[in-house]
Amino acid sequence: MTEYHYPTFEHLYPSGVQRYDVRARLIRNYDIFNYNHKGKTKQTWKMLFVDVEGEGIQCNIFGPAIEKFVGRFQEGFIYILLAVQVIFAEGKNKIVPNWKQMIIKEETNVIREEEDDISIPSFHYNLVQLNRLSCHIDCTNRVYDAMGLVLYVSPVENIGVDSVKRDVAIMDTTWTVIKLTLWNDFVHVLDENLNHVDICPIIVACGLHVKSFYGTYLSTGYHTRVYVNPVNEKTTSLSTWYKSEKLANIRRDWFRSSTFSLKSSIDISNTPRIRLSQFSSVRKVQYCRVAAYACRVDSVDNIIYEACNRCLKKVVIFQGLQKCQSCNLTNTVTIPRLLLRLTIFDKSGNLKVTILHDLAQHLLGCLATEIKSVLQQPNGRNRVMEKVFACFGNKAFSWVLHPPIEAFNPEHSYTVGYVLHIDWAEECMWLNKYIASKKRK
Ligand SMILES: [Zn+2]
Repeated sequence: MTEYHYPTFEHLYPSGVQRYDVRARLIRNYDIFNYNHKGKTKQTWKMLFVDVEGEGIQCNIFGPAIEKFVGRFQEGFIYILLAVQVIFAEGKNKIVPNWKQMIIKEETNVIREEEDDISIPSFHYNLVQLNRLSCHIDCTNRVYDAMGLVLYVSPVENIGVDSVKRDVAIMDTTWTVIKLTLWNDFVHVLDENLNHVDICPIIVACGLHVKSFYGTYLSTGYHTRVYVNPVNEKTTSLSTWYKSEKLANIRRDWFRSSTFSLKSSIDISNTPRIRLSQFSSVRKVQYCRVAAYACRVDSVDNIIYEACNRCLKKVVIFQGLQKCQSCNLTNTVTIPRLLLRLTIFDKSGNLKVTILHDLAQHLLGCLATEIKSVLQQPNGRNRVMEKVFACFGNKAFSWVLHPPIEAFNPEHSYTVGYVLHIDWAEECMWLNKYIASKKRK
């Protein structure tokens, strides 16, 4: 028997007129989608095939032709499609970036091969590295595939009356951590018990939307498929990387024990580490991080300010009365708020920073009202100063800072987002990695 060589997708030309015979594996078989067009219900059925070269192509069946093929397709099998049409890919809802697509017509013949052929790949991922996702925010006509190690799984949350969601934090070899929101049926692919066992599963999610809400995240949608621990060369290479990277383990453990919100944990994880001398030129990131000591605490006289109890803005004294300019109220009821100003330094320089109320209360381990009452006692200033020194003196911290919005001004005091204890062993590991990556370039 002479073997017939079917053309690969590369050799299909979208003429619309010519019919092709192709041989390919069905990778994804979506549900038939009903939609309304000018008052009539229409149907479309979408599939993803992959050829022997590993190229993916979308395939559609429309309208009445659908009936002929119902029940004929099963994911994973190889099909011979005789007399298939090839057209330019539709611009909307592309499931693969291919510029052409196939249409199965009424006259197309579909033959399922009963024997497998391993020369045709059994998976197709259109992977985007997690550090490159932000380039694709809100490309509503496109979906993307992502692969990552699952660092953390959140509990299920009800959204509205009939929706549920679950967030997972995933990381790839770029060390970028991204939130993946799993909706409805997908919440069950993972559960939060995972946070307590010593494994780090790999999730591959295909057909995701890249979204932005105070940061880039991924979300499942109509064309999404989620695979947990699939075995193929891509996932094997990721798990090999994970096993060889001690830091990846540390990152996972940190994530699972983090007391911050998931969003904060992700922000902190993705924050670039810099030296203070570089701070003035940092742009376009939400935060940057420095390892530094506190060297000077500004006078504790201004550690407390009186704020309007409605809007929490600082009040001014106007004709002897406390006035909130924001609410335009005189004789405002006030509450004390903390504001801690420090100067921090590393080997490269120093910087004035401000720690706002909530973080200051958290770090000092006491409430603004307590500080206020200590200050009113004899020797109160010294006692408060001692408290601040006990917290910051002679200790290095990891300072997560908002970078300058406008031109850097050394007299300005920059707001601290988070203050973390430093694990020097981890810090050295990062530093070595950083030096190694510089050498490679
Ligand atoms: Zn106010």
